[in-house]
Amino acid sequence: MTDAVAFMGGTFDPIHNGHLRTALEIRELLALREVRLVPCHRPPHRETPGCSSQHRLRMVELAVTDEPGLRVDGRELRSPEPSYTVATLKSLRAELGDERPLIMVLGMDSFLGLPTWHRWQELITLAHMLVVQRPGWRFADNEPMARWVRDYQVTRPEALLEAPGGRVLIHGLTPLGISATQVRERIAAGGSPRFLIPDAVWNYIREQGLYNVKF
Ligand code: ATP
Repeated sequence: MTDAVAFMGGTFDPIHNGHLRTALEIRELLALREVRLVPCHRPPHRETPGCSSQHRLRMVELAVTDEPGLRVDGRELRSPEPSYTVATLKSLRAELGDERPLIMVLGMDSFLGLPTWHRWQELITLAHMLVVQRPGWRFADNEPMARWVRDYQVTRPEALLEAPGGRVLIHGLTPLGISATQVRERIAAGGSPRFLIPDAVWNYIREQGLYNVKF
């Protein structure tokens, strides 16, 4: 086990097996003690989410029950301000100290959109980035990011454990073409999202009547 920490931010609206497999496989890949899932409050660069922060947080909690090493970190939801990732990383750095490797996990779709994020170039000074391939998104098509990454890219996963931050690893895990949008649409259309999301999350959605679920 290493004392490096990985964190995965997202709207988790709702959390699905694409998020959960990614978190679990990264934990195993790097033998991490913990991977934190950090739901964001009001994503500055996204549409308003489909349900409230409290529901999204609860669903993440339900999803990681019984999975040691996956943890919910509610720090962004405790702040009334928009949750810029650069601020989250600074707060994680303050908690972990300057030496511990901190790994920001993001899917290829999010990585390709980085230049639209607030002070995005600072992120790499605070943490590593572990970019997970996602079906339908190709790095090679995005020349500006392909150029930017050259200064930071490593190919060995262990390289992320050998420095506190500043490196980018692009890595393929089990590819799961699941998105929260697809899950929300399926539920609203009266279909079942079983095996795309954990049963505990599906039960909660029905109990609370989220996403226009049909009874
Ligand atoms: P939406 O469909 O609402 O846009 P989403 O499924 O992309 O949602 P987010 O909560 O926005 O989910 O994603 C959080 C993080 O997880 C992002 O970095 C995203 O790229 C990554 N991610 C989401 N789904 C997958 C997946 N199936 N495989 C790998 N990474 C994923």
